Amino acid sequence: MIAELETYPVTESFSILRINADRMLAAFIQLASIGATGDGGVSRVTFSEAHLAARKWFRTKIEHFGLEFRMDGAGNHSAFLACGPANAQTLLLGSHLDSVPNGGRFDGALGVMAALEVLRTVKENRIKLKLNLEAIDFTDEEGTLVGLLGSAALAGCLSPNDLQNPRGGRQNLVEGMKRAGLSEEGMFKAARPKELLAGYLELHIEQGKCLERSGAKIGIVSAIVGIRSYRLSFIGRADHAGSTLMSDRLDASLGASASTLAAREIVMRDFPNCVVNVGKMEFAPGAFNIVPALVDVSLEFRSADEEEFTRMDSTLMKCAQQEAKRFGLELKIEFLSTHSPSPMSPNVQNIFADVCDSLGLTNTSLVSGAGHDGQSLAEMCPIGMIFVPSVDGASHAPREFTRWEDCVNGANVLLQTVLRLAM
Ligand SMILES: [Zn+2]
Repeated sequence: MIAELETYPVTESFSILRINADRMLAAFIQLASIGATGDGGVSRVTFSEAHLAARKWFRTKIEHFGLEFRMDGAGNHSAFLACGPANAQTLLLGSHLDSVPNGGRFDGALGVMAALEVLRTVKENRIKLKLNLEAIDFTDEEGTLVGLLGSAALAGCLSPNDLQNPRGGRQNLVEGMKRAGLSEEGMFKAARPKELLAGYLELHIEQGKCLERSGAKIGIVSAIVGIRSYRLSFIGRADHAGSTLMSDRLDASLGASASTLAAREIVMRDFPNCVVNVGKMEFAPGAFNIVPALVDVSLEFRSADEEEFTRMDSTLMKCAQQEAKRFGLELKIEFLSTHSPSPMSPNVQNIFADVCDSLGLTNTSLVSGAGHDGQSLAEMCPIGMIFVPSVDGASHAPREFTRWEDCVNGANVLLQTVLRLAM
């Protein structure tokens, strides 16, 4: 094998290799028609008929291209190319074919189509590598049911509780798994020994405006943010909204509102690379004419840096306590969940940057504010992720759009990075 590789140094013949853009576009268009909503978007929520149809289409494509089809117990669908020597490790490439309801046609789909196209390019050029290649479509990245389900299962970090109390509801999960022919036992059998994996690479649309604003063609992700969530319960006292003097009220809405506003100010001033969100407030008793006795606040915040994350956590909790106190309220803090920030491999980031330079593509380093499957695998193997520009930053909506030229650039960066890593 070594002799063969030496006849094809990457710097010469392989560095001019490109994916077949027309072929990738044809596949992308076919895929976008599955679950199409008629307004440019797609609805392929996990294990829906449209999602299963897209997976079936993917399988047919894989087999048609002469690649090996594989599916694991978590339903992850893969194209496998044994281009390495016996017992070679596998370099995973991929993304997801599921979407949010009424989502866009690029989110996830681009990464899977680009991964498939990379495998086809390597196969048709009969390139021998030191690694095998696998293009994977992870199950339920979007979290209709569990969130990062397929990648967590593959990484062996899925817990029984994830399946017992899924965010999409237990009944929906059970029914969905049945439709997909999957079992709970099978989910846990999808775990792979980490020795088998050489790394994971993903191309994705940015879903934000950084690239558009900077004018860079490729975003090299330095880390995927960590996410922490809490339920804050501000507890006051129900009273007549007409006859109770303003000064006599223990109004739970005031603590909830004041701490929400203060959180925004704190994060913008002291944690400019982070974000905070209050996605929901629930009032009890909840009527025009009753002073709110209780407000439950759903608070979530994100950071790419563990130390900053910890500091932001304590600052936001202290702020909520101060605001509760200011209005005479009691505060209950319920911790809900946390995902640590996931740094991307520095080595892979460097290779991405080199490849971009050699392809003449401007690039910039950025943080992914959205979660992605790579974070499940970050403890397991080196991870690398690149973004291509989203027009107007739109995503999770039918108007989500990335120029085809940018999609092709991303796929070529993926291809050349694979060659450099696997040579
Ligand atoms: Zn996605």
